[in-house]
Amino acid sequence: MTSSFELPLRPQAAPAVVADHLIKRFGELEVLKGVSLSVAEGTVTSIIGASGSGKSTLLRCMNLLERPDRGELAIADEAIRFARNPQGDITGLDRRQLQRLRAKVAMVFQQFNLWPHLSGLGNVIEAPMRVKGLSRKQATALGEHYLERVGMADKRDAYPAFLSGGQQQRVAIARALAMEPRLLLFDEPTSALDPERVNEVLGVIRGLADEGRTMLLVTHEMHFAKEVSDQLVYLDQGCIAAEGTPQAVFDDPRCRHFVAPAA
Ligand code: ADP
Ligand code: MG
Repeated sequence: MTSSFELPLRPQAAPAVVADHLIKRFGELEVLKGVSLSVAEGTVTSIIGASGSGKSTLLRCMNLLERPDRGELAIADEAIRFARNPQGDITGLDRRQLQRLRAKVAMVFQQFNLWPHLSGLGNVIEAPMRVKGLSRKQATALGEHYLERVGMADKRDAYPAFLSGGQQQRVAIARALAMEPRLLLFDEPTSALDPERVNEVLGVIRGLADEGRTMLLVTHEMHFAKEVSDQLVYLDQGCIAAEGTPQAVFDDPRCRHFVAPAA
């Protein structure tokens, strides 16, 4: 006889990233109004919300491309050491810690942001060589592995200008993977693609989710977000208006109007 006590208990995974009451202002405009969010290791969180609600800013704060004005942030079990003034406003960062932690978070952008003067492989091996100090040979082996992983091995020598949007984005994903990050951030990775190219990129991201990679994803692909995410966050004017399982958020009256077309 089996009782629930005999089921293997999944240990509570430590979060890969924790944001606590993040506030971010651009001049007078408060774009994030105290956002708290944590992404458990091995899980996928998607952020949805209208244009201008602060999704990109939140993602960029999570890897410190933007410096928040208030709040706490921890990446890979390590609290960020912010310098603060007596009022508690963040005034600076510890550069060395920043460099170290940035290497643990990789980001994929809407516009791919590949280096135009480097081949597919060149794009993928650059950061492992510069940031992680790998030799060209080591980085090339790693790069080939991840280009293969995204189905782009045959385009390793092609320059971005000769690749479709979907192919460029897959190279960008390989570039992110080659850093072997603890956390992958995606900011609308399919929004700049022709409709017929969207699925090839979503397929790669779905595969990464199935592998158990830790991901934080901003997307307008509602069906995909629902299917792939462990946690869904609905951001509305800089505040988390609803969060929970995809089903719970889809059913939440506060965001039903937003997700209605996909529900
Ligand atoms: P989303 O990704 O949800 O569309 P963003 O995070 O890009 O939203 O932007 C949220 C708000 O912050 C918008 O009003 C936008 O104009 C503003 N904003 C974003 N980045 C900057 C910036 N660097 N300087 C000034 N305002 C900004
Ligand atoms: Mg955005």
